[in-house]
Amino acid sequence: MTVASSVIEAIGRTPLIELHGASKATGCRILGKAEFMNPGGSVKDRAALSIVEDARAKGLLKPGGVIVEGTAGNTGIGLALVANALGFRTVIVIPDTQSQEKKDMLRLQGAQLVEVPAVPYANPNNYVKLSGRLAERLAREEPNGAVWANQFDNVANRVAHLTTTGPEIYEALEGAVDAFICACGTGGTLAGVGMALKERNPDVKIGLADPYGAALYSYYTTGELKAEGSSITEGIGQGRITANLEGAPVDVAYRIPDDEALRIVFDLAEQEGLLLGGSSGINIAGAIRLARDMGPGNTIVTVLCDGGARYASKLFNADFLRSQNLPTPPWLEGAVAMDP
Ligand code: PMP
Repeated sequence: MTVASSVIEAIGRTPLIELHGASKATGCRILGKAEFMNPGGSVKDRAALSIVEDARAKGLLKPGGVIVEGTAGNTGIGLALVANALGFRTVIVIPDTQSQEKKDMLRLQGAQLVEVPAVPYANPNNYVKLSGRLAERLAREEPNGAVWANQFDNVANRVAHLTTTGPEIYEALEGAVDAFICACGTGGTLAGVGMALKERNPDVKIGLADPYGAALYSYYTTGELKAEGSSITEGIGQGRITANLEGAPVDVAYRIPDDEALRIVFDLAEQEGLLLGGSSGINIAGAIRLARDMGPGNTIVTVLCDGGARYASKLFNADFLRSQNLPTPPWLEGAVAMDP
């Protein structure tokens, strides 16, 4: 137990949690890095802190300045808490498809939200591009200036994982890690952790777990960026090679359907007390597939990106799931009605 001088110091140093169902099913030791335990509730607190520190160090961010970002939510939540703790403001551009819970969380942290229609990256009105243009405008208009966090192409993002997440995994296991696998939003986690582990042991296998609707599975298996299908997961599913992904040491890739990921999420909540979001389900499904390919006896690490409460209205809403032809959590299906 230690005393943190501010919430900033409470970011990172998350535990690795044994995933018993996944381990038992494969004969491997499958561990989840519990990133939902960060103060903002997700893996993105680390990237947010690294991006803000980098902008400050370069003199781009001045006291009272504004941080602008296009985000599916978690990076915004991380940026808002870091900004509030360090004396900055946040303006967040978010696609209207993201969960209400994440939008509410951003508002209650005092971030200014700009909700925009979800359109593909190629469209000039895509939320990422809009956030870049808004940052340029605010840089001129705001008395203390503004910066664009630009998490997709600002490599301060992956540096967070190269210098903290990756080394934490290696050190906690005293080097006894055979593989690491996760999904990609910006690619910061995959590239940063992948590079950190390969630096320490080039034999560590690095895997990508891709949802449908993303183009990276196709890229890492055939060299062509091609998407097919769709996914209800949030925060992951990339269609291009971002600057953070450039040079990511990916050895193997899997494409995971939502129903496979959701069954894992529901089992973990019911059987192991871990209530996680959909991207964690994609990650663990990827770890299980990799474990089957590598054979028993290997230690495989993945990421528990955020918690399930952030998706109560979608992932844990039986009506929504049924409308998508997805499996429903059995305990929600079987709710007992009682007269008062
Ligand atoms: N899961 C969730 C829920 C996320 O919000 C994100 C970040 N967008 C990721 C996974 C992927 O992380 P990264 O950006 O490091 O690829």
